[in-house]
Amino acid sequence: MDNPAVPLTHDVFTKKYEKNTRYSGQGLELKIHMPCPFCAEPDFVNFKLLEMREKMIRPHECQACGRAMKLRYEGNPSQLLITMIQTKGAPPPDFLSHTFVQEREEKPS
Ligand SMILES: [Zn+2]
Repeated sequence: MDNPAVPLTHDVFTKKYEKNTRYSGQGLELKIHMPCPFCAEPDFVNFKLLEMREKMIRPHECQACGRAMKLRYEGNPSQLLITMIQTKGAPPPDFLSHTFVQEREEKPS
């Protein structure tokens, strides 16, 4: 079944993602409101810039499409590798499939 919340093309996704990315506060209190990286619905997660790593190493789940992701940080500050890991839900749309490493935390039933 197609989820109506999921945009069909990369172009539609990108426009929706940009439109749904919001900022609040300012200076060190600046907060980023990030849309879902899978379906671009708003308010997937929000964090202050300095808290991003701490917040994103734990999985967050999208209320709209039921997928979840977290970030993995490897290396050191001068050579940082950040990996996007999908931990739950339906596979991403084809045009996003190369973006995510699949690492399911669900127990197989
Ligand atoms: Zn979503």
